[in-house]
Parts: sequence; C-alpha cells; structure tokens
Amino acid sequence: MANGVLRLLDLAQRHHQCVHELLERMTIGYFIEKKFGSPYVLERLAEYGFEGDNYSRVIVASDWQEDVEPIAAEEGILLWSFYDVLNGLTRELDGCSVYYDDDTCRTIQLMMKARDATSGKATKKEPEAWLHTCECGCGQVTTRGRKFKPGHDGIHKSNLFKLAREGNKAAIQELNDRNWPQPVK
Ligand SMILES: [Zn+2]
Repeated sequence: MANGVLRLLDLAQRHHQCVHELLERMTIGYFIEKKFGSPYVLERLAEYGFEGDNYSRVIVASDWQEDVEPIAAEEGILLWSFYDVLNGLTRELDGCSVYYDDDTCRTIQLMMKARDATSGKATKKEPEAWLHTCECGCGQVTTRGRKFKPGHDGIHKSNLFKLAREGNKAAIQELNDRNWPQPVK
C-alpha cells in the first residue's frame, strides 16, 4: 500500500516535470533560441540554401497567447494556425491522386479516402463506374461493381451457348470476350 502511494507520488512528480518541460518548450523564446537560433538548425538550413534573410521563420501552433504576437512580429516570425495549415493541405490534397512520401500528406489522403469510402463521396466523380446496367440485357441496375444481377450471368451464358451452337458469330465473339468457354457441340 505504502509502496503504491509512493509510486503514485513519483509518477505525479515525473508527470509534473514533463508538463513543465512541455510548457517551456512552447514559449516563443524557446523557438527563437532552440529552434531558429540553434547552430545545428542553421547549419541544416544552409545546406538547403536558406541563409540570412532568404527564408521566413514560421511557427505553426494550434493556439497562442495574444502577448506572443508582438514578440513574433518584432522578431519577424510568422504565426500560422495549425488548423488553417491542415485545412489548406486538405483542400489541396482533396481528389489529388499524387502519391506523397510525406507522412502528413499521406495521412490526410488516407483519412479523406476513408471519409469518401464511408460517405459514398468517392462515387461522386464517376457515377457510371458503379451504376452499372446488368449485361444480360435485362435493363436492371446491378449491385455496386457487379456486371450482372445475381443469377443473370448464368442465364446469359446459356443464351449465348444456344446462339453459338446455331452459329451466331456475335455470340461466339462475346463468349470469347468474356473468357467464357464455347459450348460443346
Ligand atoms: Zn440481367
């Protein structure tokens, strides 16, 4: 029991420390000093050709306190809303079929695919692709993605067999096209 309480206290203390570190990491001073001013970061940026004033420094955050804004302005740092960035990316990637390596882009694309698949929006662009009339000629619409209504392929096949036996060239051709066997004479 005592051990359990001790462990809990320990956990709370460590948790407190984590939160403290996290808050410290979220100040604009932290960004200026550790992110934008870090020699390592500056070195890497230079490798990509970003030196001096030829690039913008942007902090993307979900929210910030008002007093951060004048500091950022003074430092020439742009503050971008994470949600705006995400919405912009989402708009940009919506319906885009390019494959992205970037994890964030990839995740957004997958999320939109999942959304489309469950809401039926994926079918919006090409209704013909799934709104299919049964190929037996009955004129009925098939279940999504199917060529025939259930059982109609069998009926159609035996009709084609009958015609093929009579020497109907179109029927023989259609059996070929569908990779169906020719009737045994
Ligand atoms: Zn049919």
